[in-house]
Amino acid sequence: MALIIQKYGGTSVANAERVTEVAKRVLKYKNEGNDVIVVVSAPAGTTDSLIKRAYELSDTPNKRELDMLLTSGEQISIASLAIAIEELGGKAISLNAFQVNFNTTDAHTKAQILNIDTDVIKENLSKGNVVVFAGFQGITKNNEITTLGRGGSDTTAVALGAALSADEVEIYTDVDGVYTADPRIVSNARKLESISYKEMLELAASGAKVLHPRSVEIAAKYGIKIHLRSSFDDSLGTIVESEGEKSMEKAKIIGVTSSKNEGKITLSGLPDKPGIAAKVFSTLAKSKINTDIILQSSSINKELNNISYTVKSDDLLEAVRISEELKKELGAEGVTFEERIAKVSVIGIGLKTHYETTAEIFDTLAENNINIDMISCSEINVSCIIKESDVEKAVRALHSKFLEN
Ligand code: ADP
Ligand code: ASP
Ligand code: MG
Repeated sequence: MALIIQKYGGTSVANAERVTEVAKRVLKYKNEGNDVIVVVSAPAGTTDSLIKRAYELSDTPNKRELDMLLTSGEQISIASLAIAIEELGGKAISLNAFQVNFNTTDAHTKAQILNIDTDVIKENLSKGNVVVFAGFQGITKNNEITTLGRGGSDTTAVALGAALSADEVEIYTDVDGVYTADPRIVSNARKLESISYKEMLELAASGAKVLHPRSVEIAAKYGIKIHLRSSFDDSLGTIVESEGEKSMEKAKIIGVTSSKNEGKITLSGLPDKPGIAAKVFSTLAKSKINTDIILQSSSINKELNNISYTVKSDDLLEAVRISEELKKELGAEGVTFEERIAKVSVIGIGLKTHYETTAEIFDTLAENNINIDMISCSEINVSCIIKESDVEKAVRALHSKFLEN
């Protein structure tokens, strides 16, 4: 008998028919004698429409209330799935974060998991129940409801796997594996049989929303294999584990990703002296704003600097507000921002030592008449900020150059 944790995303529980399909699959594993914990997301489109509702009421909805609203989506799914499992003759119980004491920080809309009390789950498993748990949500020590950030149900599932020492967590979604690029953008992207935690983390963190980045971080930390597969068939998907597909020498490019929900802010005319960047980024960090690409350049003929940085669109307005305050405090000349920028990234181990690859990335974008606004390079990732309208073209061109031959 094994402990199996399965997570089903929004498309997999979009309507009654899909929920019943999931219930059948869950019972197949349960009837083979396994303990099964199922984590579910809100039905497809629900979280988006709840967010839309909040923003129809206010441009800056209170984040505590936003979390209260958004967690309702997952509760639709847990109750629906428990009903469907019982209808098929199984035993199931739905549980939310409060009932289980799924403890997080109080950072509303982007809370981090602190610890999970597994007693209630174990007790229900021992009674022969399938435990159907609400993804994405958590509870603070003061009983406030939180969410883990968009796509966070993957992280719920892997964190439960870690807390209960599961060997493998199955993530069921609407594609049958991790591909070398989003298969909805690149029709001949290749499915990977396996991928290392390191590479998967980089793909996820740079926009491949197929897995929530923090789920991969937790999997790597606790050595949990993730099997990412389709809820629409029985095919094997992609295994995320310590070592992925191998190739000797040669920079191994594993994928091309993109991310559209980015904004860029520039603080111009900052004094050129020690401590300025530290002040800017510690102030943003205090407000829990994650910055991504950072560029500092000096103004010609002046002892002044410009600092540009990118953030997720959700954080843009707050980051602009903070930058306006920093402008006054630090005596900067101005703050400007751009809303519709995108990032395209090429991911592969050894990119830094294979410098010719970096040049080829820029060449490929140039050949396609795509202007690069900002660049960031690491051992495993070359990312370029480009116009949002160029992003699909960029992904296809880079995939064709490095991953199709
Ligand atoms: P779920 O609701 O099941 O969590 P998501 O929509 O969050 O599903 O993630 C699955 C989607 O991720 C796919 O439909 C696909 O378009 C997208 N995706 C982006 N990059 C990749 C990639 N490299 N491989 C597979 N899917 C990808
Ligand atoms: N329902 C949440 C979202 O849409 C969480 C998830 O799907 O993982 O972001
Ligand atoms: Mg997802």
